[in-house]
Amino acid sequence: MNRVYNFSAGPAVLPEEVLKECADEMFDYKGSGMSVMEMSHRSKVYDEIIKDAEKDLRDLMNIPDNYKVIFLQGGASLLFAGVPMNLMKNGKAAYIITGQWAKKAYQEAQMYGEAVAVASSADKTFSYIPDCSDLDIPEDADYVYICENNTIYGTKFPELPNTKGKILVADVSSCFLSEPVDVTKYGVIYGGVQKNIGPSGVQIVIVREDLIADGPAFKQTPTMMNWKIQADNGSLYNTPPCYGIYVCGKVFKWIKKMGGLEAMKKHNEKKAAILYNFLDQSKLFKATVQGKDRSLMNVPFITGNEELDAKFVKESKAAGFENLKGHRTVGGMRASIYNAMPIEGVEKLVEFMKKFEAENA
Ligand SMILES: *Cc1c(COP(=O)(O)O)cnc(C)c1O
Repeated sequence: MNRVYNFSAGPAVLPEEVLKECADEMFDYKGSGMSVMEMSHRSKVYDEIIKDAEKDLRDLMNIPDNYKVIFLQGGASLLFAGVPMNLMKNGKAAYIITGQWAKKAYQEAQMYGEAVAVASSADKTFSYIPDCSDLDIPEDADYVYICENNTIYGTKFPELPNTKGKILVADVSSCFLSEPVDVTKYGVIYGGVQKNIGPSGVQIVIVREDLIADGPAFKQTPTMMNWKIQADNGSLYNTPPCYGIYVCGKVFKWIKKMGGLEAMKKHNEKKAAILYNFLDQSKLFKATVQGKDRSLMNVPFITGNEELDAKFVKESKAAGFENLKGHRTVGGMRASIYNAMPIEGVEKLVEFMKKFEAENA
């Protein structure tokens, strides 16, 4: 068996330990005589899996009791509609446009009400986070929306925006569980899990209870997208993505064992520093994001020469470094170095980049 170093932006690398446990339990989950894929979502054994997953996530993120945790399906993209459907009660919301995912969420929200773009970094291909300390947020906005870590462009909010008292909604798909968060600063934290937690197919929504107490903003909201109903049913209104939630639960336990989110932050900072430090002194490669807005999770870089970029992607793949090609809309390269990427993977990548530089400079 030969595992590569997988720098994919998502679906992405998972801890080997978790994959091995899943393999061991594939035929017979803890004496049930069944795979988790085969068991009823109403069974006692599955109930324990989903309840444990929620509990471990609550422990890891220190989620207060007045927040609901729900497991959904449909991609983070379905939640671009789910957010306004549940929260846009005044029919207005403020969006900060820091990349493609924020823009898509903004465009989707326009189908349900007035989505106002209050800041954007489109002028410089989303290579920075705009100043969000004093934005013109409409008085009657229901929420302020951000994509906290911009997977494609490699930026992350260095601090949360000043929402002028409005609730903050954050898509954290690509920075979920990468460092500690103060949940109380948000009304909603949500994300798809396939970047940093588990297999695609599961979304997690962490929402302050009072925001959904009266049900969604629109009576036509599909039951499946109604967060109140989903929360009241413990994410078991219908058949949830059972196996995916089981894998997420294992990853939560793995993070706990690694020392929790403080330890993850240290681990991620260490890896990112190895790569950024190399990029900042390289004569061939250059990071596309500078300074405090840099993401710990997604590191885009270029040589400045498209042919050389293509050569690098090809040769790195042959050397066992997978998925280093940049997003199709931006080109260049991108190394996604999520929680499960070992330090050794980044060290070896930098070694390879040094060699490539020496051969091609
Ligand atoms: C990948 C990604 C999405 C889209 O996820 P899907 O599950 O494919 O819909 C949305 N937001 C962010 C920040 C992402 O990284």
